[in-house]
Amino acid sequence: MSKFRSGVLYGQELMDLYADAKENGYALPGVNAVGTSSVNGILEAAAKVQSPVIVQLSFGGGHFYAGKSLSNDNMQAAAAGCISAALHVHQVAELYGVPVVLHTDHCSLENIVWIDHLLDFQEDYYAKNGKPLFSSHMLDLSEETLEENVEICERYLTRMSKIEVGLEIELGITGGEEDGVDNSNVDISKLYTHPTEVYYAYEKLSKISKNLSIAAAFGNVHGVYRPGNVKLSVGILENSQHYVEEQIGAPGTKPVSFVFHGGSGSSPEDIAKSIDYGVIKMNLDTDMQWAFNCGVRDYYTKYKDYVAEQIGNPDGDDLPNKKYYDPRKVLRAGEEYFVKRLERSFADLNCIGRNK
Ligand SMILES: [Zn+2]
Repeated sequence: MSKFRSGVLYGQELMDLYADAKENGYALPGVNAVGTSSVNGILEAAAKVQSPVIVQLSFGGGHFYAGKSLSNDNMQAAAAGCISAALHVHQVAELYGVPVVLHTDHCSLENIVWIDHLLDFQEDYYAKNGKPLFSSHMLDLSEETLEENVEICERYLTRMSKIEVGLEIELGITGGEEDGVDNSNVDISKLYTHPTEVYYAYEKLSKISKNLSIAAAFGNVHGVYRPGNVKLSVGILENSQHYVEEQIGAPGTKPVSFVFHGGSGSSPEDIAKSIDYGVIKMNLDTDMQWAFNCGVRDYYTKYKDYVAEQIGNPDGDDLPNKKYYDPRKVLRAGEEYFVKRLERSFADLNCIGRNK
């Protein structure tokens, strides 16, 4: 018997999954997908380790999924790509036997029409199917003031909770660069969230819905860099969790579900500690991009004499090379490395066999 249902989890199921993660000390990898190769790779890895997984799409990833040539003026392409990816996941997740959390990544105020499109679509979808398409969305309004951030999130969470969709918010700023958003030069104090800010947001938003998670900044950075000025301070998560517990009078209950952004390149010790303090999701993008790249790179290195010309290779001048340059061969090489790398992340996150 599996612990969770195969397919896309939502509403109470999602909250149950995160509660199980906190209780048993593991976190789920939140992996960015940009096409069917990455979606299928994520599901393949999750099936291998028999654990649930989070498939997420960024604004740029959604646009790419729909097709780079499409205009994204009204953010309709980013939304259409996300819907297309979501429908793909709904169609195949059960075949893989994997419980999936379907999520969208950072959405700034500038891009909020993207989420509006996704919610418009899902309100219709929910009316027809009795379930949403996505498990949750992220709003990253960390560039606004704390009050504005939370106020806008209150409005969106109210709307989302009616169709059983959860919300991930951001407090403080994740450093580095991802998906065209560059926070490399941001004021260093913004990279560390204060416990009172976490409580302020938690208190207001959890009144609306408990289907809520918080990406609090603790010196974490998107991308992989040589060790620099920014220091990871997982103690911020511990202090914030304890502060909220005290305020609501519920010691030891880990009421806050934290999300760890910029997980690529983090030490296993920091990951383990952050899970201890209530991290239930760690985002992975950069390391997965690298893995896919290495798979394709090594394929082309290995078969360089078989992909240089359509006809003719070291085995014979007249031999066709079709079976070497078939894009499926190239993409599959990327997928295989991607799957292997993701299995390692499942292990780092203590997330092996969590659906048994
Ligand atoms: Zn992030």
